[in-house]
Amino acid sequence: MQIETLAVHAGHRVDPTTGAVAPPIYLSTTFERSPDGSYPHGYDYIRSNNPNREALEECLCQLEGGVKAAAFSSGSAAIMSIFQALAPGDRIIAPTDAYSGTSQLLRDILIPWGLEVTFVDLTDPTSVEQAIRGNTKLIWVETPSNPLLKITDIRKIVDIAHQANALCVCDNTWATPIGQNPLKMGADLVVHAVTKYLGGHSDVLGGVVISQVDDHFFQKIKAIQKTGGAVASPFDCWLVLRGIKTLPYRMRAHTENALKVANFLSKHPEVELVYYPGLPQHPGHEIAASQMHLFGGMLSFQVKGGRDKAFAVAAKVQIFTRATSLGGTESFIEHRASMEGTQTTTPENLLRLSIGLEHPDDLIDDLAQALY
Ligand SMILES: *Cc1c(COP(=O)(O)O)cnc(C)c1O
Repeated sequence: MQIETLAVHAGHRVDPTTGAVAPPIYLSTTFERSPDGSYPHGYDYIRSNNPNREALEECLCQLEGGVKAAAFSSGSAAIMSIFQALAPGDRIIAPTDAYSGTSQLLRDILIPWGLEVTFVDLTDPTSVEQAIRGNTKLIWVETPSNPLLKITDIRKIVDIAHQANALCVCDNTWATPIGQNPLKMGADLVVHAVTKYLGGHSDVLGGVVISQVDDHFFQKIKAIQKTGGAVASPFDCWLVLRGIKTLPYRMRAHTENALKVANFLSKHPEVELVYYPGLPQHPGHEIAASQMHLFGGMLSFQVKGGRDKAFAVAAKVQIFTRATSLGGTESFIEHRASMEGTQTTTPENLLRLSIGLEHPDDLIDDLAQALY
């Protein structure tokens, strides 16, 4: 079945008791036991399972080509569960350019807890190979990366990880299952902040881990979900499942618009550099073309001048909203360095754009007047 059909139908069934086509939201925290003590419908308590969460997990499995999924209350909680499924003394390799929250989780919480972390430029497979140690258990991939849109060769990193008996995990938030399928390239786990494109409307926080196999490691993640309790609420799952139905069409439009904006910016005299993997001059373009179906709706650019010029441009936009986050229907502009805190290595003249679903000509006009 094609992805558009899966997006509409996976995890969805007409409600058997009422015939309702849109799924009911099951808010009940608890479920009745039979006289013999069993749970006739398979549900016992909301933290363990819930029909809306189950539907979302099933849908995401099908979209990514995995066998099991676990939905969490945020992308960060999903990421945390993977790290917590490791043991103190285990080592991971993580990218130097990654979602700042992931780096912060590692630095502030998991290194003090006992994980060992080597930060490496994942776009250079040789340095990844050289960073492998006896206790390396996991390699973290985020591609395209945040905020520099660096492209990591997923297949190569999977090979390196598996030769070292380590897992390869891919944060696929930016590409979405429509743009890229890491499990089909051999990755062991995929993680998404569903807060972004999957929800798609800037109104829900959530995360998910999807696994290639139902193994001991995934069972640990599932136990962390149930017992740790950072689960996605029924309404949040319902919203994300609803968002996913239009995801293939939204991603095509986000990508089309982003390519037009990237082309405009790359020719603009006030722009120093554009980071968008869909541009042929992007250093990761060829790898991106070999592993992505769509280049996505995110791009960054550096203005000529410093932090002040970047702020001045962001201050002048009319259609773009000055806000963090991404993946909504509306376009965002963000001065990323000032959002990332003191540890940031992001250039001060860099602005990150989440390209929405407005008409691309309006977005280009807006940037043109702001850059002037
Ligand atoms: C937003 C984001 C996260 C974190 O997700 P939350 O839902 O905000 O916790 C993780 N990875 C990437 C790439 C993101 O963009």
